[in-house]
Amino acid sequence: MEKQVLIYDTTLRDGTQGEQISFSAEEKLRIAQKLAGLGIQYIEGGWPGSNPRDMRFFRMAQEANFETTRLTAFGSTRRANIAADEDPNLKALLEANTPATTIFGKSWDLHVTEILGVPLEENVAMIVDSVAYLKSKGKEVIYDAEHFFDGYKANAEYAMKTIQAALSGEADIIVLCDTNGGTMVSDLRQIVEEVRDSLPGRRLGIHVHNDCGLAVANSLAAVEAGAILVQGTINGYGERCGNADLISVIANLQLKLGKKCLDDFKIMRLTEISRYVSDIANIPPLNESPFVGRSSFAHKAGIHVSAIAKNPLAYEHIEPGAVGNKRRVLVSDLSGKSNIEYKANEMGLTLGGNGYDSKKIVTEIKRMEDQGYQFDAAEGSLELLMKKTTGQFKEPFSLLSLRVINEKNKVGGSISQATIKISVNEEEEINAAEGNGPVNAIDNALRKALSKFYPRINEMRLVDFKVRVLEGSAGTGARVRVLIESRDGTDIWNTVGVSENIIEASWQALVDSIYFKLSKDQNEGPHAA
Ligand SMILES: [Zn+2]
Repeated sequence: MEKQVLIYDTTLRDGTQGEQISFSAEEKLRIAQKLAGLGIQYIEGGWPGSNPRDMRFFRMAQEANFETTRLTAFGSTRRANIAADEDPNLKALLEANTPATTIFGKSWDLHVTEILGVPLEENVAMIVDSVAYLKSKGKEVIYDAEHFFDGYKANAEYAMKTIQAALSGEADIIVLCDTNGGTMVSDLRQIVEEVRDSLPGRRLGIHVHNDCGLAVANSLAAVEAGAILVQGTINGYGERCGNADLISVIANLQLKLGKKCLDDFKIMRLTEISRYVSDIANIPPLNESPFVGRSSFAHKAGIHVSAIAKNPLAYEHIEPGAVGNKRRVLVSDLSGKSNIEYKANEMGLTLGGNGYDSKKIVTEIKRMEDQGYQFDAAEGSLELLMKKTTGQFKEPFSLLSLRVINEKNKVGGSISQATIKISVNEEEEINAAEGNGPVNAIDNALRKALSKFYPRINEMRLVDFKVRVLEGSAGTGARVRVLIESRDGTDIWNTVGVSENIIEASWQALVDSIYFKLSKDQNEGPHAA
């Protein structure tokens, strides 16, 4: 089947307008190559006229292979009152040496006269000249009509005139932008339909922001009204409330509306792509993200779990594997036996005694959650608890002693040292390490001690560490819950510890994390090198 909707990714340009989002040129290249592997049709690499980093990216990109993906450079129309071939911004666009270029121009009369301070006719000339100039240089030109929907509502005639200008310069695709993200779905759909009807045979695209939480809905509505290209960003990164999240856009278009964007088997990489980009952006993935979040197919209520055990369709809108995600069954003190049995089955754990074991596990979970543990957020610890409760866990090491020293000096610097003594198969090992905090020092010392016995321990790293005070009234003497997220090359897992002592709580979560890793790799025994 032919691709029905072209996907245009602007994570590397509009996405970096988001708070806390910044990519180096090298990181941009890695993301671009990943997206090219997915078969995204256009990747906007940056604004070469606005900063040297983006120019560097475009230079590096020339050496790279983007398969069928077209790389595009972004910039504005020429400045007022100069010739297109003298405009430094258009020059930079050509220097980027991409097959396609995207330029934006003003569609809203308010922006032209009040913000830009240019006569309405000059703005129209700026659009025609710039598009025609880039076309004369052999580029595919995508024209972004900035503020189009607001402009159309204020002065439809002028907004249409700016688009006609881009078309008379022979722009290949006209992208209607809801730059302020304030347009309602019904208005947006109607305007796209009107533009479509007045420009028969022209190719239209859509670019929307998420200020009303409608970016994905608006993108889908535009496609239904005739747009053939959707601009957006991975995970919806972007200025203010973000752009349209391409992950949701693609999944909805292809799986719900039957409009092909990617090859079928590549849709199954959406979860991986979402996490890859969030990893490079260093923004923790949102659990509740549609389709690709950790919680997207997580079931907690006992009734739901017993239903999905019969038929997953009972509480799932699609099969999680369709987007590369996984079903998860959560266990907490609200859970019944069916959650435990489902989980045990998933882990390959045999429960005995006709429900005796699962009852024992539920009782243990209730007792521990009453103390402040939280297992639906710590599945690693839950697995260990289930194995321990049913006598199917043997500790891969045990702690003999641990000492942590914190030193803080006058100039504000601080350093922690941990000394640890453990035993593995009756062999004792003692080690010391420093860290930039007590938990880091313990982690380093413990790994050093264990790596001799379990070399694969070096594959794992801690990626998140959260501390929450459980009872407010006791102040610094309160009980705390520590949640640790760890990962290796293949998995992510969470573990939990609870104590009045933050070091003790951290220790529990840390040890569970390592136990989990070791029991995952259990084929590799002690002294395997
Ligand atoms: Zn934008």
